[in-house]
Amino acid sequence: MLLTLIRRYSKPYSPQILAVIIFQLASTIATLYLPSLNAKIIDQGVSKGDTDYIWQTGALMLAVAFGQVLTAVAAVYFGSRVAMSMGRDLRRDVFRKVSSFSAKDVNAFGAPTLITRGTNDVQQVQMLMLMGLNFMVSTPIMCVGGIIMALQEDLSLSWLVWVSVPLLVAVVGYLVVRLMPLFRSMQKKIDAINGVLREQIIGIRVVRAFVREPYEVKRFGAANKDLTEVSVKIGNLFVLMFPAIGMILHLSTAAVLWFGGERVDSGEMEVGALTAFLQYLLQILIAVMMGTFMAMMIPRASVCADRIGEVLDVEPSIHNPDAPVAPAEKKGRVEFRDVTFRYPGAEEPVLSNISFSAEPGQTLAIIGSTGSGKTTLVSLLPRLYDVASGDVLLDGVPVTELDRDEITSRVATVPQKPYLFSGTIEHNLRFGKTEASDEELWDALETAQAKDFVQEKSAGLNRRIAQGGTNVSGGQRQRLCIARALVTQPKVYLFDDSFSALDVATDARLRRALKEKTRDATVIIVAQRVSTIADADQILVLDNGRIVDRGTHEELLETSPTYQEIVESQLSAEEVA
Ligand code: ADP
Repeated sequence: MLLTLIRRYSKPYSPQILAVIIFQLASTIATLYLPSLNAKIIDQGVSKGDTDYIWQTGALMLAVAFGQVLTAVAAVYFGSRVAMSMGRDLRRDVFRKVSSFSAKDVNAFGAPTLITRGTNDVQQVQMLMLMGLNFMVSTPIMCVGGIIMALQEDLSLSWLVWVSVPLLVAVVGYLVVRLMPLFRSMQKKIDAINGVLREQIIGIRVVRAFVREPYEVKRFGAANKDLTEVSVKIGNLFVLMFPAIGMILHLSTAAVLWFGGERVDSGEMEVGALTAFLQYLLQILIAVMMGTFMAMMIPRASVCADRIGEVLDVEPSIHNPDAPVAPAEKKGRVEFRDVTFRYPGAEEPVLSNISFSAEPGQTLAIIGSTGSGKTTLVSLLPRLYDVASGDVLLDGVPVTELDRDEITSRVATVPQKPYLFSGTIEHNLRFGKTEASDEELWDALETAQAKDFVQEKSAGLNRRIAQGGTNVSGGQRQRLCIARALVTQPKVYLFDDSFSALDVATDARLRRALKEKTRDATVIIVAQRVSTIADADQILVLDNGRIVDRGTHEELLETSPTYQEIVESQLSAEEVA
């Protein structure tokens, strides 16, 4: 997967990658050339007292060094640009893919892992690409070229290369092999800490209410201790790593000087050749070290690439039809024909044999106990899920044959859990219709009984909303979500228990205003309170995923035992209150 990803994402950048390779090649050759020039100055200039030669070769050396710096900078510049761009493209594609997921696809992964895959995992792959682009060309050339150049300087010292390079590979390799599983386990421990932390932050009120802080502190402490232990183990190995590498480098230096010195003494080798040999050996060792580090990143990045690939390879379970049908009319007529639905992995259907139709200008209400399938039912129209059998039709066309934009432009949902995005009130209201005028926004707010509390603050429409809308009350959030739906002026409104956080008086006022505004639209209301739906044109009584009764409030009061039960339970509750 890693290779596939790299190949796919490097394609648009092949010219830049070519530039990186060329610059790196130039810079590496210059780096390899410098020590031999140095040797020439010492051996042919200094030892023979030839000042002209020193000046000439010195000038050449300066030019080569300058060229080396320029090409190295250019290589890193392009390399980093390409790696970052590839990372950006990958992240964008993961994001787009996840955005196209249906609720079922998201549930299959789980939101936290999708977040990690889109951020941390992409970053690991990006890091490898960065390292790869910066070192992939220079490292092997430096190794091979360094060895050739070193041998050219002095053949009899070559055994030092054959000893020190494998020694370095062995030591660094051993440490890397020990480090790898620790890195992997560290990733898991970080996941664990994230998990505990997220749960505690989200559940902080419950934790307080049940005085569970000591227990939770302990739980976090355990996860934290786990992570610390692994980190300390990694630290211990790193403590070893740098001195070990340093020791090998310094021992090699000492050995070159020792054995080379003897050869210089006996006149078999010149001083310049000795310094050049030394520099080449160090270059080789450093190249080997970088190569090993890079090799170390590959397994980790390939695990991440697999995880990213899993996301990218998903064929969203709900996708746009290839040849969407254009409906003849756009009135907002909704019809369910013998619909059965079960959640993925569940044995029992949540909805069975649901048939009804809702006409424009009418209000259809759905009532039933918790868990009877009301939310599931309304989520089938905007295709959050697809039915197992039967048909959901919008203006006579099955929703599976409609373009999704076609559906969303005609159907507005006010979800059970009202959700607002971080930004301003205005930004949230324009969510479904960016070109809406300010009057339209205020109009929607007025209908949703939200005008007063928006006007109350001087910021008005520009008031900041925190992520999720947590800085306004539950009831205010519901009303803002209702206003958001109103702004889009859809043909079909789905109110999923959207009035539950409102007091009875506000609820009544809101519904009166809504009736005005939604005169031509189809309104489907899921509700718990009988008072909310008493004036609906048709009420469906849902029990255990089946429609047990249907009719108006008055009809149901006479004929439906289930409805009577609901009414009675609420009446007595209100009477007691
Ligand atoms: P209601 O809105 O009437 O309270 P729901 O439609 O939310 O009922 O839920 C109906 C049933 O479907 C419940 O028994 C619930 O356990 C199940 N259910 C709801 N959402 C999911 C889901 N995402 N995955 C599996 N089962 C679910």
